[in-house]
Amino acid sequence: MRLQDLQQQLSDLGAKPLHVQRVLRQWLWALPLSQTAGRRRPEDFWPQALREALPALEQRLRALGQIQSQHPGDDGSARLLIALQDGMTVESVLLPREGLCVSSQVGCAVGCQFCMTGREGLIRQVSSAEIITQVALARALRPVKKVVFMGMGEPAHNLDNVMEAIALLGLHGNIGHKNLVFSTVGDPRVFERLLGPDCGPVKPALALSLHTSKAELRERLLPRAPRLTPEELVALGEQYARASAYPIQYQWTLLEGVNDGPEELDGIVRLLKGKYALLNMIPYNSIPELPFRRPSWDKAREIARQLHQRGVLTKLRDSAGQDVDGGCGQLRARALADPSQ
Ligand code: SF4
Repeated sequence: MRLQDLQQQLSDLGAKPLHVQRVLRQWLWALPLSQTAGRRRPEDFWPQALREALPALEQRLRALGQIQSQHPGDDGSARLLIALQDGMTVESVLLPREGLCVSSQVGCAVGCQFCMTGREGLIRQVSSAEIITQVALARALRPVKKVVFMGMGEPAHNLDNVMEAIALLGLHGNIGHKNLVFSTVGDPRVFERLLGPDCGPVKPALALSLHTSKAELRERLLPRAPRLTPEELVALGEQYARASAYPIQYQWTLLEGVNDGPEELDGIVRLLKGKYALLNMIPYNSIPELPFRRPSWDKAREIARQLHQRGVLTKLRDSAGQDVDGGCGQLRARALADPSQ
């Protein structure tokens, strides 16, 4: 279900824009849509056809996704495995400080070498309504004030659904626009859309997966990402940062012996010094099935310190849920291998 289909169905039942807004808000806040016994609610005064349709609509929205399993981490995060209506699963992550990481696709076509999701290839798109479902399910557990599109999938490959969800979250979900973070490996279509007249009413912040300053290594690590050099990617990022007035968040998954050497530090300084940008350095979550390893925390801290000293604003972050199959796609892979999990 796309959000625009839901809005159309409500209009066909006689809903005015205010009614549509209320339905969307109740859903987004995980609140009941239909009559609760004994209480007068604004819905009591809506057109009869609309009122009568609400219980069935509520059931349909609930059926879009359910939490199949929850995996709390020691850091205050929790990984959620969400079962969608057709039996497919995606991961969402409750982040510390009221953040939520959502998935935009089942599987992913980019095929990053260090990612479990990338091994599956693209299975299907996640609809805008299924993205909102991830937020509603999370909100039933705890407050959500920031949504990052960094879960399974490449949001740029599902642009219409992702932008539709971003617009709803920004307009009616009580989430500040810069707290909606669109993450991409760097697809030129994203910049065209976000910088153009079709961006929609909400401009999200942007996170770009850089991972290396070397074009040839980036092609190997992200084999099916668009062929932008790191320089081209940063130039596009800078253009968006200036247009949106939000700094670009560059993502750097730190892989031992691959992109943690001195020449990469020089490359980062060359690319990012003086830019309106923040570098998020995230030591890799080792996955037994893949050959990449996580560098020590001390080494990562030293790299971040040196970059800071050389004029690049760097934050060292641990990816949420380290202790609970924290690599993107790991939870889904485990559950597929052993459905009792
Ligand atoms: Fe896709 Fe992100 Fe995994 Fe790369 S890291 S394969 S873009 S899900």
